[in-house]
Amino acid sequence: MARLLAVFAHPDDETFGPGGTLARYAASGVEVHYACATRGEAGEVAEGFLNGYEDVAHLRTAEVECAARILGIQEVHFLGYRDSGMPGSEDNLHPRSLQQAPDQEVIGRIVALIRRLRPQVLITFDPHGGYGHPDHVKIHRVTTEAFYAAPDPERFPEQQKEQGLTPHQVQRLYYTAFPRRLLKFWLFYLPLVGKDPSRWGVNQDIDLRQIAEWSQNITTQIDVRRHLKRKMEASACHLSQMAPMRDIWLPDWLRRRLMGVESFTRAYPPVTNRAKLERDLFAGMNR
Ligand SMILES: [Zn+2]
Repeated sequence: MARLLAVFAHPDDETFGPGGTLARYAASGVEVHYACATRGEAGEVAEGFLNGYEDVAHLRTAEVECAARILGIQEVHFLGYRDSGMPGSEDNLHPRSLQQAPDQEVIGRIVALIRRLRPQVLITFDPHGGYGHPDHVKIHRVTTEAFYAAPDPERFPEQQKEQGLTPHQVQRLYYTAFPRRLLKFWLFYLPLVGKDPSRWGVNQDIDLRQIAEWSQNITTQIDVRRHLKRKMEASACHLSQMAPMRDIWLPDWLRRRLMGVESFTRAYPPVTNRAKLERDLFAGMNR
């Protein structure tokens, strides 16, 4: 059974980032799982959006479950932490926040999930966490370590005794990359309409110029044009977080052109032939 596990921080990271890729593999018969570290507790929710939900966590849990159904994700696995805010935010100090959680504890939870689900492909954030959100950066770090710890019988040996989980080597590790075409487009377009690309998004905390400087080594491009409709439908599930998307409304033809390809960096196994872009996360694997 071909399985893919994506590990991110918040309800919506799975869709706004690699949603097209997850939908594409789910549609082709791969069992796709999402490990979501938090329930998005610190996300800003405009008044009126809570309608009926007890709190932000319940609302955003329902939103990610809606998106998962549309993308074809088999199951959302919550790692049980609380959302942290951007640097300096008080949410970072909350004792249950992902920021306060000891690395080894978070790594252990991801290792247990890897050993239970036994995926061939693991996807997580790049070292900058897309745009620098501290939760994203931490998830990058702990997921990378979990990738290397999962096959090692000396790491978290109690998981075998207590839960019957045996070591598992995931075959490939990928990092998501901010879409280059889209980035170039915004850097060109926003100043034309009098907006500042270094203060983008609803909280104006996304610095597109900084992201462009971080430029990543893209090794893999996945054609998701046929799955963009699902990605947009799944985005609509994250209604409370859609404000950042208001800025990025695009006509269909332009969206297909700018968002029709999702890019990744293959971190493991290392890419030797950099001249040739990979077009399939499962290339050469039996499935
Ligand atoms: Zn996020």
